[in-house]
Amino acid sequence: MSRFLSARFAALQAYTPGEQPQDMAYTKLNTNESPYPPSPGVFAALSSSEIARLQLYPDPEGKRLRAKLAARYGVSPQNVLLANGSDEILNFAFMAFCDSATPVIFPDISYGFYPVYARLYGLSYKTAPLKEDFTIDPKHYGGNDATVVLANPNAPTGIALSLEQIEAILKANPDHIVLVDEAYVDFGAQSALPLLGRYDNLLIAQTFSKSRSLAGARLGFALASEDVIADLDTIRYSTNPYNLNRLTLLAGEAAVEDAAYYEANAQTIIQTRAYTAAALRELGFALTNSKANFLFASHPALPGGALYRRLKELGVLVRHFGNPRIQNYVRITVGTQGQMDTLLACVRRILTEQ
Ligand code: PMP
Repeated sequence: MSRFLSARFAALQAYTPGEQPQDMAYTKLNTNESPYPPSPGVFAALSSSEIARLQLYPDPEGKRLRAKLAARYGVSPQNVLLANGSDEILNFAFMAFCDSATPVIFPDISYGFYPVYARLYGLSYKTAPLKEDFTIDPKHYGGNDATVVLANPNAPTGIALSLEQIEAILKANPDHIVLVDEAYVDFGAQSALPLLGRYDNLLIAQTFSKSRSLAGARLGFALASEDVIADLDTIRYSTNPYNLNRLTLLAGEAAVEDAAYYEANAQTIIQTRAYTAAALRELGFALTNSKANFLFASHPALPGGALYRRLKELGVLVRHFGNPRIQNYVRITVGTQGQMDTLLACVRRILTEQ
């Protein structure tokens, strides 16, 4: 820390993203990327004539992409906000809808960025414990006089709330934003989208990073009432009106057009998830019922940290978290069938070493 850093950031602990080794030598199952490349339309959209236009600023309203997303989700473009990854949606939302009068509440085990944003903005935040089986108890999310932030499915457990449970939480918070982070919703959970017309406190965040194979392009979006989107846009224009570059906008438009390709990939990932979960269970692992593109697994004979380290030595990267409640678990991204067979072979080997 330099002596110039504002005192308000002195205690800030930054978010630690998963490892991104640049040598590509690993079977990379640690940051929930898609194992499949972007669709053919994305390749075609990023032509050299578009590169030639990089001297020009992008459309700050992202009109074409917003229109396509609005048509895809049956809403109006005024219900859509684009951002540089869904992390930026979260950032804007914490800035816009929380303050000293309105704190924020989220589960004790969830996406590690939530407490970072809360601290960045000097917010007081409350965590509600997941139940023993790692499910969210909707009862915890009413009467707090706070903005509610929930990942559905939750991370890193992969466990999803039903639409009825989300609706109950929306009803319990008529005067507060309920942010539903649907980064992983395309792998088998229910989106809160059908509730959008009825609840002006609902804010949905989604991303192109997982089911749409565009983690490297950084593209996320919010779906909400016109007024909530307008508030987020005020923050966006006060931060970075050109938050999306020209190439990412084009890639996003092509990806929305190629919906069938991504839906087929999501189905394959769901099948590979079931295959891998069954194989891990046979090896003695306990797993949550994940509706995401990752598995959350623990083994009675293998502490999570040791498993993570030994897998890394064998060339397989998974994610391990320090939080004591989940330190015996690892989170494993669902890759291709071949990648999962590599993982399973390494796990079998590690188990024989015990
Ligand atoms: N929400 C959750 C629950 C996540 O796990 C992630 C991925 N790290 C994100 C949001 C952010 O993803 P991105 O910024 O790539 O859209």
